Amino acid sequence: MSVTSAEEMFTRELFKRYEVNKKYLIPKTQYYDIIDSIKSAAAGANKKSRNDYYLMSRYDVLLCGDVWKLIKKRNIPDETPLYFVTIEDTFDVIKRAHVSTGHGGRDRMLKEVQKKYANVTTAALELFKSLCEECQKKRKRPMTKGVVVRPILSKDLTSRGQVDLIDMQAMAHRNFKWIMVYQDHFTKFCVLRPLTTKRATEVAMHLLDIFLLFGAPAILQSDNGSEFTSHVITELKAVWPDLTIVHGKPRHPQSQGSVERANGDLKDMLIAWLADNNTQDWTAGIKFVQFQKNSAYHSGIKCSPYSAMFGCEARVGLTSSSLPQEVISRLESETDLLAATENVSPETVNTTTTPAVNHTTTATVNHTTTPAAATVNHTTTPAATTVNHTPDSPSLVKESMSAHIAQIKRKRGLAYAGQMAQAERMVKRSRLDLKAGEGGDNVAVPIYR
Ligand SMILES: [Zn+2]
Repeated sequence: MSVTSAEEMFTRELFKRYEVNKKYLIPKTQYYDIIDSIKSAAAGANKKSRNDYYLMSRYDVLLCGDVWKLIKKRNIPDETPLYFVTIEDTFDVIKRAHVSTGHGGRDRMLKEVQKKYANVTTAALELFKSLCEECQKKRKRPMTKGVVVRPILSKDLTSRGQVDLIDMQAMAHRNFKWIMVYQDHFTKFCVLRPLTTKRATEVAMHLLDIFLLFGAPAILQSDNGSEFTSHVITELKAVWPDLTIVHGKPRHPQSQGSVERANGDLKDMLIAWLADNNTQDWTAGIKFVQFQKNSAYHSGIKCSPYSAMFGCEARVGLTSSSLPQEVISRLESETDLLAATENVSPETVNTTTTPAVNHTTTATVNHTTTPAAATVNHTTTPAATTVNHTPDSPSLVKESMSAHIAQIKRKRGLAYAGQMAQAERMVKRSRLDLKAGEGGDNVAVPIYR
């Protein structure tokens, strides 16, 4: 991205739009004026004007460390603050959301910026996307068409896993030539690994690592065919005899389209990451792409794969805290952090400790699905002890855990409803695209290996 020109064009355009619509856009000068008005109105020195009442109904101010920030008027004092961003800073805010979602589209970016900001419009997001060179380079892939009779729906987290290989031989890095993509069918949570060969032994070793962390699926399927999957399963059984797993049908036209699109999407995200970071090391890039993909909003399941898996959004240290960016960038020690958060609601800081609970809850899911995974539980349970430093008594730990489990259930319910709706759309579209054949018609039949 040629940063300066894109940023200039973007900001210039926003100022143009500001002339027509002043509701959501705030130039920097006005931003400080509003803060001053609210501060003096709150102090009650002068009689409040009509404008003061208007401003106070819409905005509030918050002292973060040593800077005053303009935030959206909160209904409850402890609510996580939503910041107003100035026209001049909008480009940076959107850029962070765009890059952290792996050059995500409007909706993914919107979900990301809404976590922290009150006034970033969809129009601004679309404008940004249209100015991103990397995004313009992506060519539109044709939609994969196929007859969708009964799309596969995964009710359970570990019921079905998909393992595919992306060919990277044309840009081999060190000895790595393939990307293994493992995806849990239900939560859409994915794990990417670099491979030197496409041999079953190597694939199995990586799957073993993943399965011993998250639990193993009952069915394993692959785009590379059932022969490949059976070899992988044989290798897996050799090292983990307790594991019983079956291979899925050779090719599922039902799920094929979505897998191909998903893997194409991963490749695009990777190419964009390499360009942004000016490197060829895709073995490092896939780690970031994996995180971007898992933490970004997924339209099919109506939440992020990460939250479907863990029941909360993925955190990036303090970057995802509710503190404003300029304050975060100046923090170094815990003392700095405490000083900065003194004026922010306490609830926003505490959340850092919650993810530790996740491991325990995922482990309990394993219990119900595969008995073999029970051995894994033992290793994961100690993670729960790290929670102890937040609440003091065991009953509090239990309480926060059951709240967390409830949250995971809610997210997965959402994911299931999302999948159902997506499946219905697939069936409908397939019926519209493909009409029933009649005697004497010519048909094209794809041949699967
Ligand atoms: Zn982009």
